[in-house]
Amino acid sequence: MSEYLNPSLELRARVALEKHHFRNTHSLGQNFLLSESLLALLLDDAQIAPDDNVLEIGPGAGVMTALLSRRARRVLAVEVDRGLQPVLSDVLEGLGNVTVVYQDVMKADLRALTEAHFSGEPYRVVANLPYYITADILLKLASSDCPPRSIAIMVQKEAAERVMSAPGTKQWCALAAELQYYGQARVLTDVAPEAFDPPPHVMSQFIRIDRWEAPPVESGDPARFRRLIRAAFAMRRKTLANNLKSAFGLTQEQARAVLDAAGVDERVRGEALTLEELNRVSEALGSINL
Ligand code: SAM
Repeated sequence: MSEYLNPSLELRARVALEKHHFRNTHSLGQNFLLSESLLALLLDDAQIAPDDNVLEIGPGAGVMTALLSRRARRVLAVEVDRGLQPVLSDVLEGLGNVTVVYQDVMKADLRALTEAHFSGEPYRVVANLPYYITADILLKLASSDCPPRSIAIMVQKEAAERVMSAPGTKQWCALAAELQYYGQARVLTDVAPEAFDPPPHVMSQFIRIDRWEAPPVESGDPARFRRLIRAAFAMRRKTLANNLKSAFGLTQEQARAVLDAAGVDERVRGEALTLEELNRVSEALGSINL
């Protein structure tokens, strides 16, 4: 009986989805997590504290959003699908600390959005998003001029392995290097396909990346450093010298001089370099007169 008087969030979401005849859009990766107990565990892992501002990306049917509203100070949810508006209005009804905006997060101006809603205060990100935008959204957040203090996000298991990878391994990539420059990543929980509605065809992992208080390497120009990282991994079969030539328009001599100044072998491939070595190359690039 009490369930009818005070339905669980999962039931509220299921009723709202049914009532508004919502049909999941496969192309938007709409695999929802509706289990309140699972979401509560994920939010424990996300370490959201009562005074936190939280940017939730892709609220879906809003169960996670409602739980966040109980744990955090303010919640700003960004959802691309306007078709979810009636569902979210039902599920989030009366939650005064939640705002939902309908837009594509990839096109959003993060600074404007977070300054408007969090008055310029620090914020954290929580997201269960379609896996095809994992890398793009992580790079957008990590390289933003107003980066979050942490990012707790559901990713495909293989993406988690890439994010956690070490230099010199097959997995080491621009995404890993950029994220490790941003913060410390850890895998928190394995999530099986059956936890989602509908289930995806892949295993998932919930990960959290905590922004470093002080970055692991001191870059004189973070934008140039990121550009160098992307260039270093651009064509994996090419040597770093060749990738430098095409990305920065250097001559062979200039590329050689940069690598020499950085103390890096000119025949090395970018993927073999540590963050520290990549940063030395970036600093050397900054110091030569091109
Ligand atoms: N967080 C909800 C949950 O756990 O049930 C929904 C997860 S579902 C995997 C992904 C959600 O992200 C969907 O609601 C989808 O419409 C939304 N989404 C997809 N692409 C988006 C984008 N570019 N910007 C904002 N939201 C997006």
